[in-house]
Amino acid sequence: MTRNRVRTTVKVKIKTEVLTARKKRKLEQITGRDSRTIHHFLKVIYHNENHLMSVKNRKKKVNKTKLDQLTLTTTKNTAYTSRPKVRHDLKKRFPRSSHDELQECRDNATAIYHSQQALNSSPAKKTSPKKIPRTQSVNKNRFILTCSPSNSIARWWVGIRDSLDTRKNNTRNHEKLWLPLACSPYHEYKLQQGKIQALEVLYYPKKKEWWVHFILLHAPDKYSSSHPPAVLGIDLGINKRAVSALLTPKGVINRHEIRFWSDKTRKRLLKEKEREIAKLQKILAKPSLSFGKRKQVLYKLKLLRKRQRAKHNLTDHTYVNKLVKYILSVGKRYDLYVVVGFPILIRKSHYRGNQQPRTRKSVHKWNYRRVAELLKFKLSLHGWEEYRILAIGESWTSSTCSRCGSYHTTRPNQPTFICNNCGYQVNADLNGAKNIAKRLIKYVLQPKYNSIKDLVSGKFFPLSSFRVFPVLSQWLQTKQSHLLTPGAGVST
Ligand SMILES: [Zn+2]
Repeated sequence: MTRNRVRTTVKVKIKTEVLTARKKRKLEQITGRDSRTIHHFLKVIYHNENHLMSVKNRKKKVNKTKLDQLTLTTTKNTAYTSRPKVRHDLKKRFPRSSHDELQECRDNATAIYHSQQALNSSPAKKTSPKKIPRTQSVNKNRFILTCSPSNSIARWWVGIRDSLDTRKNNTRNHEKLWLPLACSPYHEYKLQQGKIQALEVLYYPKKKEWWVHFILLHAPDKYSSSHPPAVLGIDLGINKRAVSALLTPKGVINRHEIRFWSDKTRKRLLKEKEREIAKLQKILAKPSLSFGKRKQVLYKLKLLRKRQRAKHNLTDHTYVNKLVKYILSVGKRYDLYVVVGFPILIRKSHYRGNQQPRTRKSVHKWNYRRVAELLKFKLSLHGWEEYRILAIGESWTSSTCSRCGSYHTTRPNQPTFICNNCGYQVNADLNGAKNIAKRLIKYVLQPKYNSIKDLVSGKFFPLSSFRVFPVLSQWLQTKQSHLLTPGAGVST
């Protein structure tokens, strides 16, 4: 099964500044011809859509043998046999491409067709002039990656086999095009993580750079632990980015099992950008703006928004990396399950005109789903199964007492939480994180349904996945409830 295997891409830049003009031209020729071939295949597929389709596992797929009958033929043209005629003869059209190369282009074209069908993309996209890279698989010996420590130009080289310029003295000479790579120690480490499956050579026209994308496949070690179980509850917040609370079989939480995650630099950076964007938007709103000036401002705005998005992306990654590091360190001591509180319908409840413009703005900018998704993805790279990181609904967790379970509580200000029933006073986000962790234990030990839904992926996980939970049952006992009757409403 490929299900528990992870596919990653490592992107390495080619050192084009040391390439000779001939090599550069060759690189352009190869990639140009590849994308032309792929376009040609796509045209054939779209033209013969009804003829080529066959149903496999209830899914419509392009039948490759039928496509080959239209485009490629295996028999050679010799003195005794003539090549059978085919309708769209790609071998005639691209005489210097080898059969393997054409087949790789065919596979790429069918993959592009399937993804276009899945996305229901417009027919205008069907013939885009963009260069499309060909995926060259390692199985057919298409390329070699070598390390030469003594070479002064580059330590890592990739040799790509191509059939251009290979005819010498009437014999086919499979020359290799050797490309020097700008491989940093980070790239080296990443390349050693898995098995290289395929390679793509890409050109970025805006940067004017050539890059190689290596596609790796690796089976991560499965995370399993013989340690006692624990649940880590994470409450995602807007101002404080997260609060985590670790519930262990001890039944009490100590100082080291609580973490507050904040990100002040991110807030400052984003605010600066927002101010700049607001300024430009104000200029745009002026009716007296000339056409040329308007165009200028719109361009600037586009650039700023792009930069802001990049900043968001970067800060999210660094922040999730910190969380992952912490989770992995805790995972060494416990059989750990992570629960993320996931707000449902929070955006709908903060509609325009609900008299809270400030909170509405911050809520709509809050990217809780991306954080949860990233967390899930990054832990999956370390071999964590999907049911170990769950996103469950966080409704009522902020207004319930995590000690006695009473709803009779007050929040005099944002950070403080006071229980009117048992007099418990804590940080409100920490209270939420504890409640979220408790909710998972409750779902498992006092089940209403026989599965738990993960709100990020929408998958259901059976309760049998959480086998070791009875040790954590003491978290569900309400404490100090013998002193006061629950719901009595004694204020402190
Ligand atoms: Zn209480």
